[in-house]
Amino acid sequence: MTSNATLLHRSLNAVWHPCTQMKHYADTGDASLPLIPIARGSGAWLYDFDGNRYLDAISSWWVNLFGHANPRINAALRAQMDALEHVILAGFTHEPVVELSERLSKLTGGALGHCFFASDGASATEIALKMSFHSWRNRGFDKKSEFLCLEGGYHGETVGALSVTDVPLFKEAYAPLVRASATVASPAARRDGESPVDAARRAAGSLERHLEAHHEAIAALIVEPLIQCANGMAMYDPEYLRCARELCDRYEVHLICDEIAVGCGRTGTFFAHEQAKIRPDFLCLSKGISGGYLPLSIVMTTERVFEAFYDDAITRGFLHSHSYTGNALACRAALATLDIFESDNIIENNRALAAHLARCIAPLAAHPGVANPRQRGMIAAFDVLTDDPGFSRKFYREALKREILLRPMGTTVYFMPPYIITPDECEFLALRAADALEAALLQN
Ligand SMILES: *Cc1c(COP(=O)(O)O)cnc(C)c1O
Repeated sequence: MTSNATLLHRSLNAVWHPCTQMKHYADTGDASLPLIPIARGSGAWLYDFDGNRYLDAISSWWVNLFGHANPRINAALRAQMDALEHVILAGFTHEPVVELSERLSKLTGGALGHCFFASDGASATEIALKMSFHSWRNRGFDKKSEFLCLEGGYHGETVGALSVTDVPLFKEAYAPLVRASATVASPAARRDGESPVDAARRAAGSLERHLEAHHEAIAALIVEPLIQCANGMAMYDPEYLRCARELCDRYEVHLICDEIAVGCGRTGTFFAHEQAKIRPDFLCLSKGISGGYLPLSIVMTTERVFEAFYDDAITRGFLHSHSYTGNALACRAALATLDIFESDNIIENNRALAAHLARCIAPLAAHPGVANPRQRGMIAAFDVLTDDPGFSRKFYREALKREILLRPMGTTVYFMPPYIITPDECEFLALRAADALEAALLQN
């Protein structure tokens, strides 16, 4: 029979785990990290082989929306599997990919009517960048070959996506491989006493100055609407998106909204950009769109961009592909996910759930060692006042001991639970997180 110990040992021998110094799994001291074999999942819970359980309060890296082994998504996948698991999307099409494209387009009010498919977030970024550049070139704007991104922005870790990612930890080792992109001020960076709207307008001012000077060479501005998740859940006012839209129009620069993390209801609306009452030229989706079941990403764009490629010449087409483009099972999981949004009134019900989560973590937010409590929709975060460089790992270990899965980014602790978390589980999460915080701070 499989036990935690045997599977752990085999995993360390054969599996190279992501975003990790592998030696930390073997260490026993301050740097040590537990590696936990998971046997099964149900709802918001993960279970190991030895009978322990963990509340998945980060939705397994921001992907899971409706719980593990969700019966409705399972049933949809079983039915799809018996009909068609996958087919080449060049020269062929199928029902799930057509229906998903139609439904997503409808969710943008028809503004983004063309869907291009890939398998992960970083690939969606690559596609949006390539499409933007190529569409300008097809329209005769040969000089537009640069991209603009925000300080602290994150858009994935492939070589192209790293060029618009501003997270030194992920980027520095590969700097010689990565094309430089200009960064402009993050609207999330506030000065003392500054309101969120003022911070947004100040950042928009620096965007304006940059575009004024360089717009002829810039194809697109890429942003994460409302929350720079990988930048410690840095939140900003929708005003920035309104200004950015207006400036991108004025200076003929595409606006790419990377909603890989903030889409699918995370911020309180289905798409985060809706809160600014704007539409981007490109919208990138992934993570939650398949309910956290299968790798799927989508780049949605406008009629205008699509038309720039529509021609007799093959070289004016978008000659980009991935083997699993438009995978039928992944699209079916996404359709089942959209069904749950509709039938269970998720966007509306999440308002009450988010308010309940806020009440549960209010005592934590008032802790003297905690600063900048913040929340938008189903993402809540706070910063811990500590200079302990090992805080994040200590907190992670202490949280696991208390049956909760939370992975602070540096000194930022955040909650990003699946939408099926119950009110009682929210309370459990907040109480255990408070205990874990005390325990982690005591170890400094
Ligand atoms: C996670 C993420 C990505 C990258 O997606 P992967 O599937 O991990 O490649 C890109 N952009 C944002 C905003 C993300 O949060």
